[in-house]
Amino acid sequence: MISKPLTTQLQKLLRSDVQSMHAYAIQSAAGMVKLDAMENPYPLPAHLQEVLGQRLGALALNRYPDGRVNDLRHALADYAQMPEGFDIMLGNGSDELISLLALACAIPGASVLAPVPGFVMYAMSAQLQGLSFIGVPLTADFELDETAMLAAIAEQQPAIIYLAYPNNPTANLWDDEVIEKIILAAPGLVVLDEAYQPFASKSYIDRIVKHSNVLLMRTLSKFGLAGVRLGYMMGPKALIAEIDKVRPPYNISVLNCECALFALEHRQVFAAQAKELIAQREWLQSALANMAGVKAWHSDANMILLRVDDAAKTFDAMKARGVLVKNVSKMHELLANCLRVTVGSAQENAQLLAALKDSL
Ligand code: PMP
Repeated sequence: MISKPLTTQLQKLLRSDVQSMHAYAIQSAAGMVKLDAMENPYPLPAHLQEVLGQRLGALALNRYPDGRVNDLRHALADYAQMPEGFDIMLGNGSDELISLLALACAIPGASVLAPVPGFVMYAMSAQLQGLSFIGVPLTADFELDETAMLAAIAEQQPAIIYLAYPNNPTANLWDDEVIEKIILAAPGLVVLDEAYQPFASKSYIDRIVKHSNVLLMRTLSKFGLAGVRLGYMMGPKALIAEIDKVRPPYNISVLNCECALFALEHRQVFAAQAKELIAQREWLQSALANMAGVKAWHSDANMILLRVDDAAKTFDAMKARGVLVKNVSKMHELLANCLRVTVGSAQENAQLLAALKDSL
């Protein structure tokens, strides 16, 4: 059937800014070495797949999610060593939590501020909820520009400041003293987004307890459950209680919930995978450091940012060789000719290096 174009009447109904947006692009990766989205390359071991399958099969899919979601909240709080006086809320991926935060703060004139280049959802969620987005450029070596950040905060008074720790796509951690200055200068919320925490050399969790306006966000995606969609956010009890009011009821399906609980019961399997990926990252970084025509930045995540002479050409040539990475060079001028590669298994990383070498 040929699909009909939107009628003028429907065009008038739908927000014009939404109509002029591009949908979030997901690259097709069928049959390719998939190193574009910071996924964990290792599947659940076969014996665990079987046990999980039985557990999922026994769930009451005819019922709405129930108290089991609270069990998951407690298990995650325990896993993350959430400080006393804090509470935790869950999202369908941290993407949903980012959208809910914008919704909770969507007062006319409100804004969201984040360093750029950074994770695209901060700007997209702001736009969708009618908040303005202020992107403060990083320095040329991808550090926070302390002066520019503090000036923008003083001038714009943002409702929400995002600091991805480590950052995507630059894969670095920020200077903790600069973060503290930002938190003290912030008139509103500061969200430390620790999506890549399983691979990072440090976390901000021990410092959040001093503050009343800091939220710490994490996800099980990079841990090894990107397909499950489970993000969580911790913050002072009274603050989480307010933000949680805009969460759709039952946003965590019984399937998501059970998979996440199961994964936490077997956390040592995922911890071993993260350890192996960190070793792989170190191996990949030293190989890249010796490759002519490539500049690779230090990474505290499961991705590495590279600069080549011609990113579009290299990206296409790698794709033709069956290796899919992300060309981020159009995201921001600081990323000119940059590619972002995910750290994969030993075999995938060897394929990545071979394809990159042939594609420069
Ligand atoms: N935060 C950052 C910094 C990310 O890079 C990503 C995803 N790439 C997310 C959050 C979203 O993660 P999730 O899969 O939990 O929605």
